[in-house]
Amino acid sequence: MKEEINKLIDLQAIDLKLKKLNEEMSEGFAELEKRKATIEERQQNIVLFQEKLESFEQRRRELELEIEEMAARIKDRQTKLMNVQTNREYQSLLKEIEDAKKNTGDGEEEIVHLMEQIENLQTKISEESNVCEAEEGLLAEKVSEVEKHEAALQKQKDKIVKQRNKKAKGISEAMQRKYDSILAYRDGIAIVGVTDGVCQGCFMSIPPQQYNNLLKGEELFVCPTCQRLTYYLPAEEEE
Ligand SMILES: [Zn+2]
Repeated sequence: MKEEINKLIDLQAIDLKLKKLNEEMSEGFAELEKRKATIEERQQNIVLFQEKLESFEQRRRELELEIEEMAARIKDRQTKLMNVQTNREYQSLLKEIEDAKKNTGDGEEEIVHLMEQIENLQTKISEESNVCEAEEGLLAEKVSEVEKHEAALQKQKDKIVKQRNKKAKGISEAMQRKYDSILAYRDGIAIVGVTDGVCQGCFMSIPPQQYNNLLKGEELFVCPTCQRLTYYLPAEEEE
């Protein structure tokens, strides 16, 4: 049993290295994903700005047409004024001309306002596009950097996995299954030391009788609190 405990302790050390490597690998990819998401967000902004810009320009064209129509109407009514017969007709034509002039003024005012907004949007689109382009360049650099790093990490990982397989061979299948299931459920730590009666996985005390048995190192005990496998780990001597 002592031998198997030692093998499990070695296996745990290997698994911790693997855990760290896996975390480092996913960190690299997570950073790339984050950068991609930021760029996508900017691209979506650009699309929204462009849609807005198009609708403003559409509105501007409509207004310009309306103003042209108004100008034609004013001209037409002014001609009619020359040949007017009754005062009532005269007043009505004057009113039409006045309304058309007012509409023209309102339309022109709206166009000025639209032009300001269009200019704003054009600035935003060009700024956002520049930032996007710069970020895409940076992302491409980062991708090749991360890929290189990941390849190096993968090499290390392959080596460690080989070590692990070799080490695991000396451990019974039933024990491996137990170890693996604790590893999966207990954050990558399946076997922990107990120092001065305290489990170093959950920092809770082990019952005294169990601790006494543990000290002998002849049996594998499970921590009653965190359910991890335990072994006796002497306290480090203070110098
Ligand atoms: Zn524990």
